[in-house]
Amino acid sequence: MSKDNFYLISGPCSAESFEQLDAVAQEVKQAKYFYALRAGVWKPRTSPGCFEGYGEVALRWLTKIKETHNIKIMVEVASAEHVALCIKYGVDVLWIGARTTGSPFAVQEIADALKDTPDIPVWVKNPVSPDLALWIGAIDRLQQVGIEKVGAIHRGFRQYNFTPYRNAPMWEIMLELKQEKQEIPIICDPSHISGDRRHLKELCQTAINMETDGLMIEVHPCPDEALSDSAQQLTPDAFFKIYSSLIFRDSYTVSDKIEQYRTVLDDLDKELLSMLSHRMKRAVEMGELKKKENISVLQFERWKKVMDTCSKQCEELGLNKEFVDKILSVIHTESIRLQNKIFETNEDCNFK
Ligand code: PEP
Ligand code: MN
Repeated sequence: MSKDNFYLISGPCSAESFEQLDAVAQEVKQAKYFYALRAGVWKPRTSPGCFEGYGEVALRWLTKIKETHNIKIMVEVASAEHVALCIKYGVDVLWIGARTTGSPFAVQEIADALKDTPDIPVWVKNPVSPDLALWIGAIDRLQQVGIEKVGAIHRGFRQYNFTPYRNAPMWEIMLELKQEKQEIPIICDPSHISGDRRHLKELCQTAINMETDGLMIEVHPCPDEALSDSAQQLTPDAFFKIYSSLIFRDSYTVSDKIEQYRTVLDDLDKELLSMLSHRMKRAVEMGELKKKENISVLQFERWKKVMDTCSKQCEELGLNKEFVDKILSVIHTESIRLQNKIFETNEDCNFK
């Protein structure tokens, strides 16, 4: 592999002990393009009661790791207080997590706290929801106070019932950010996209095919015992196996571009199918309910209303109405077929 200015960030989801950090650092620092050791010190957890990080004591371990291994250390910050502590303990690089990027007050507070140390690089993860403006807004806030090195991290977007990943990779949003912010590097965090280490290899390669400027990968000496994100962390061995299998392409050719677009289309197709499956399951549930409430499968008035509403949306979305009508009609026919099956299978069909 060969690529200039590639940023490889790896390390555990959370700093759990000096020994844990030491075991990971001595391995990952040997990887080509290694940039910094990541470790969460304050963990923004979705639900209360989960492990929320060891705080200041973990910063002490990290300072020692930095000296022992002569590497950069990288920590997530969510407030001015976190920034002050990171500066105090000599943290080299900061990142803003997905839940914080979505909060303009918090991002502004972090930016203001960094005004006097503009040389500390700050990487901004995308917000949890697919909101490009919010992501750009957070980057702008940091750039406006004079932070010299700002980067972005694509870690996927939360979607209801999205499969097969924990967070949907929306490469099209990453490409749009690339257009808007050509001056900053954009890297990918496949660990938080996948939520499951089994998908990491394919996601890393896709990210590289999409010309990512780097990767952030969670590595833990014993992933199964990790205090956070255990299913997605890799052992150092697995990390090297995947990393050394990745194919970096040197030249920027037309076919690479085509590959990028194909990946976007493939992902969109996957999403469409996953939504269709979701829709059909709901249609079946609805069929069961109709049967219970003694309502006929087809209610023409309701169908007309659905079609009218969708037709109106076509214009807004720039979609050809005839095309949408055809698709909706096929979807509706399939829903009716499934619902009719429910009515049939449970009835006595032994007519003589
Ligand atoms: C993390 O990097 O461990 C983390 C909490 O990520 P995110 O903000 O992407 O959820
Ligand atoms: Mn994590």
